[in-house]
Amino acid sequence: MTDFAATKALFDLPAGLVYLDGNSLGPLPKAAPARMEQAMRAEWGTMLIGGWNQANWMAQPRRLGDRIGRLIGAEPGHTVIGDTLSIKVFQALSACLALRPDRLVILSDTGNFPSDLYMAEGLVRMLGGRHELRLAEPEDLEDAITEEVAVLLVTEVDYRTGRRHDMARLTARAHAMGALVVWDLAHSAGALPVDVAGGGADFAVGCTYKYLNGGPGAPAFIYVAPRHAHDAPPALSGWLGHRAPFAFELSYTAGDGIDRMRVGTPPVLAMASLEAALDIWDAVEMDDLRRASLALTDRFIDGVEAACPDLVLATPRDHERRGSQVSFRHPDGYAAMQALIARGVVGDFRAPDIMRFGFAPLYIGSAEVDRAIEIIAEVMNGRHYDDAAYRQRAAVT
Ligand SMILES: *Cc1c(COP(=O)(O)O)cnc(C)c1O
Repeated sequence: MTDFAATKALFDLPAGLVYLDGNSLGPLPKAAPARMEQAMRAEWGTMLIGGWNQANWMAQPRRLGDRIGRLIGAEPGHTVIGDTLSIKVFQALSACLALRPDRLVILSDTGNFPSDLYMAEGLVRMLGGRHELRLAEPEDLEDAITEEVAVLLVTEVDYRTGRRHDMARLTARAHAMGALVVWDLAHSAGALPVDVAGGGADFAVGCTYKYLNGGPGAPAFIYVAPRHAHDAPPALSGWLGHRAPFAFELSYTAGDGIDRMRVGTPPVLAMASLEAALDIWDAVEMDDLRRASLALTDRFIDGVEAACPDLVLATPRDHERRGSQVSFRHPDGYAAMQALIARGVVGDFRAPDIMRFGFAPLYIGSAEVDRAIEIIAEVMNGRHYDDAAYRQRAAVT
């Protein structure tokens, strides 16, 4: 059994704050500053260029990749860290289009995160405009998978509503139609058990600064199924994806397996704080995490609905159909969220009217849920969102 009181003690959270935004940026692991200090002073400061070998910086993307791989059900040796999620989406998509040269459709849904769609649009333009990015409504996605589709690009858990797609089912349907699937796990990795191998995912990508707590700007990860690992053509053919980077050959030859998804120099300092976060994950069983997450989100939904009749639940009630966040709609959602943040309950807002609350059992328990419900009831029923001070929009919502 995972000891969530013990994991909570490993995070540095300001006293009195109820932090329900770990789905956007996870909190600071207490061990991260010391690990960062070590990477800076004992490694960079002391070893200088020798750090690449002595501190094994070059192997970090594969080592950390495998630690994330355990959390997403990946076969060892098939996940690597690097770049940002948007870049990893681009890599996975372009590899899929190259593996299905006779097909021209990228299929996604209107619940996907805009950056994934923008990257697909850019790729379509770059390939000369012959391809098409086609969007279905999330509930119609399965029926939209036809034999024209080269690749299905799906984010498992919707960033706004928390609605979860059925990975095994959509993947099976795509494969039956001859299409490949890229799963975006931005709101799944560290939020719920994922089984990319069992679910048949061709590619999976995700970020590490949300539920995984790797820190702002922490690098992304990419998984390539073993059956594609040696023939997925890398569109971003940087030297560290080369078969022999230090041979400095004039022409590119893709590396073996997952190494070909590497591009350039790994972000060594950013990986240091990610490593501290992954130390915590090593003691977590994903089934325990899911049980705790569902208990917290059920408690939150019941409590908020009972106290605030004005808030409309946007998240599916069915356990199978949701991730680890709960969203409510309200026309004054932006101002209401600012009023909550001012009272120490931190969630966030997504246009046009979504108030979003993420639940991470690693550091959130039922006491925090009850406190959040109490303050939400105070803000909503006291109409504190009418206060002009809360209507001023900041650049990042
Ligand atoms: C958070 C998120 C991103 C962000 O991409 P970055 O390149 O890390 O900024 C992309 N896609 C999805 C689905 C996300 O939830």
